[in-house]
Amino acid sequence: MEKVLLLDYDNKPLNFCTWKKALLLILKGKAEYLDTIRKIELITINDTIIIPRVIKMAYKTAVSNKELPFCRENIYVRDNYTCQYCGKKFPESELTLDHVFPKSRLGPDIWENIVTCCKKCNQHKADKTPKEAKMKLYRRPYRPKDYLRFELQKYPINITSLWEEYFEDNQKAS
Ligand SMILES: [Zn+2]
Repeated sequence: MEKVLLLDYDNKPLNFCTWKKALLLILKGKAEYLDTIRKIELITINDTIIIPRVIKMAYKTAVSNKELPFCRENIYVRDNYTCQYCGKKFPESELTLDHVFPKSRLGPDIWENIVTCCKKCNQHKADKTPKEAKMKLYRRPYRPKDYLRFELQKYPINITSLWEEYFEDNQKAS
């Protein structure tokens, strides 16, 4: 699925959307292609549609700070698909989630208590605390702050490199 970076009226990154949503916003006159557009062409049976990489809202929007969903995928991304006990990187199929303070002892389902863990380490830790299991946490789990920067990590580098400048410009400006 091709993603499009949506900028606010004042060129600040606002969100990511699907290319279909981006085209719809443009058709409805709610957004416009940027001058410095980077595009790929999608060949359909009858036509060629220009898909933007970056679009800009045609008017000022009221932005609310988006909260990052607390879910398995986002925890894996935060931990870079790396087991937080042995420090090795694994494919998703070999990973699971671990409650640092065990769930069986009412350890909560929160960003600060859940880490990415390989199945072997998870089995070894079982329902002990890291200290009881004599295991060391690679990095203390945290709640990611910047929603858009976090989302950026999910895309391949050849795509994010096309977007980076908008994030950099934004940082310089603020
Ligand atoms: Zn491990």
